[in-house]
Order: sequence, then C-alpha cells, then structure tokens
Amino acid sequence: MARSYVHEATRRVEPKRERIRPIVERLAAEHPDAVIALRFLDDLQLLVSVLLSAQTTDVTVNRVTEKLFAKYRRPEDYLAVPLEELEQDVRPTGTFRQKAKNLRGAMRVLLEEFDGEIPHRIDDLVRLPGVGRKTANVVAAERGATQGIVVDTHVRRLSQRLGFTRRHDPAKVERDLQRLVPRADWARFPHLLIWHGRRVCIARRPRCEDCVLADLCPSNRV
Ligand code: SF4
Repeated sequence: MARSYVHEATRRVEPKRERIRPIVERLAAEHPDAVIALRFLDDLQLLVSVLLSAQTTDVTVNRVTEKLFAKYRRPEDYLAVPLEELEQDVRPTGTFRQKAKNLRGAMRVLLEEFDGEIPHRIDDLVRLPGVGRKTANVVAAERGATQGIVVDTHVRRLSQRLGFTRRHDPAKVERDLQRLVPRADWARFPHLLIWHGRRVCIARRPRCEDCVLADLCPSNRV
C-alpha cells in the first residue's frame, strides 16, 4: 500500500474550512496551466487515453495514442483485430496485456449496453471493465459533467499533508474532499494538486521553501 503522509501535518494552522479557498486561489494562480495532459479529440479517445494512463506517463500515452487513434476510430475497431495485435499497439504503456483486455471488454459493454456511446453517469462508467471510480471521475470531469473529485496518488498525498483528510482509502479521501471543496471547484481541484505535487510538493522531498501554501500548510518543513 502507498505511504501515508498524515503524520507530517503537525503545525498549527487555521481550520481547513478557512484555508480551502485561499489554497485553491493560490494554486490556480501558481499553476494556470494545470489541465489534463492527455491528448484526445472525442469521448472515446478520452476514455481510451485514461485507461492507458495507469502506471505510466501522459507523454508515453500521447505517443502511443497518436498512432492508435488513427487505426482505431470506433469501439468496433478494437474488437475487429486479434487481441495480440491490440496488445502490441498499446505495449509501450506497460501492463499491456491487461490494458488490451480491458479495452476490449469496455468496447464490448459500450456496444452491447450503451449503443457505442460513452455513458455520462459515474455509475454507468464504472460498469465498463477496467474503469474504476478514479477513471470515471476523470472522464466525467473532462466532459463537463463532474460528479466527484479525482483522487490519485498526488491528490491523496497533498490532501493528507494539507490536513484535508486523515484517510488513506481513495474513496474515503474523496468523501472528505467533497465535504470541503466548493462544488464549482471539483473539476479543477485535482489538477491543481497534481501539478503542485509534481512541481513543488514532491513525495520524497517537498520544496516547502518555494511553496505558495507554506503559511497555510500544517506539514510545512521550514
Ligand atoms: S511543499 Fe507546500 S504543500 Fe507541500 S508540505 Fe511543503 S508547504 Fe505543505
């Protein structure tokens, strides 16, 4: 299981309800480019990109999907080739056998239950093989139909360091965040934490000396 950062939040700061707005505002000013880094042109491409992005970088996914999307344009296309061929086409993204299997499973369910269209509700999205709540939240948010808050490793770490949650399980972290973050910010909030987590609040050695949240953070080390 991934490490917990809860114990780092030891400094006294204002209650989280008073810190959340300035934190969102400062992060938005600091990371105006904090948007999804995956490249896609439609809902199907979005779903495939997010499915392929598990345990690899967005750069790798974009490199692979550039060719993939020229070859596979509709859900049927993913089922029309032998499984081995699809595996090779997604191979650079890692865990390619599982990803190819999930892609085919998802396309089959899309065709059989949703007329080949990507559903809008999170409860429907998670019925697609390989689509967990995180993937479903990413897809929904990017389509302007936000229904939850994406919790990945960065979001969990920063939420723990900032004292927003003491939980570890992503579903419970998400529930804590939903109670705290204004609904209008649910879509951009994870992007802000992800980019801040990549650039400043790094897992092993957070750069607190360069952090715009230093006075608002109970885990500040300087
Ligand atoms: S980098 Fe910023 S958010 Fe992360 S622990 Fe340090 S002060 Fe807190």
